[in-house]
Amino acid sequence: MKKLLSLSAVLLFTLTTFAQFNNNIVVAHRGAWKTHNLPENSIASLKQAIAEGCHGSEFDVHLTLDNVLVVNHDHEFYGLDIEKTTYAELLTKKHPNGESIPTLEAYLKEGMKQRKTKLILEIKTSRISPERALAVADATVAMVKKLKAQKWVEYISFGWEVGIRIHELDPKAKVQYLTGDKTPAEAKAAGYTGLDYHFSVYNEHPDYIAEAHKLGLTINAWTVNDRADMENLIKQHVEYITTNEPELLFEVVGEKN
Ligand code: MG
Repeated sequence: MKKLLSLSAVLLFTLTTFAQFNNNIVVAHRGAWKTHNLPENSIASLKQAIAEGCHGSEFDVHLTLDNVLVVNHDHEFYGLDIEKTTYAELLTKKHPNGESIPTLEAYLKEGMKQRKTKLILEIKTSRISPERALAVADATVAMVKKLKAQKWVEYISFGWEVGIRIHELDPKAKVQYLTGDKTPAEAKAAGYTGLDYHFSVYNEHPDYIAEAHKLGLTINAWTVNDRADMENLIKQHVEYITTNEPELLFEVVGEKN
């Protein structure tokens, strides 16, 4: 009996250790920040998305003047233009919860403490040049490889060339295109693994979801904060929905099951 108990303990440990990422459609946009009044793209909002059991937590990556990868949505961090500011200068500003701007390294390390919530990494476009956005992609993929974070990370970008570059650098990576101006066939041919379009694009092109699925592409939609829009997408069997309201989306998903 004792042997049996220890055997089941080992089995439980194994199952927990190698457990899969949460199998649901909820992607928290810039983390789960809204209900708990946390700063968007903060480590705190990532932790909250993980605590809520989201499939993914989205965040945005920029490169500072002195080539440090940092996580923030806007091109400015409390009035400082990230691309024209050194990391040390950015540290003079803080989020209202006391956090500094997270480095990508710190953000990934936090996410890698668990294996339930994926890290949906957006490479931001550069206001300096398209080449600089490609440099952000290069540095980001290098960082993900250095930390061995490939299992956690999926990439998104509005930059068509950025996604193509990521696919070249890491052909196994999941990469979704955000802009909405390419057909599913064009995205597939370029190496993308999914579409992540504004939800209105799927209304304008009602054939896109079925076409994409036929090609083996996943469908995500941004940024869906309204119950009716969520229900409409769930009806069309999208894989993921990116939202500022993860709690509401969980509620809607629960009602549909
Ligand atoms: Mg984003």
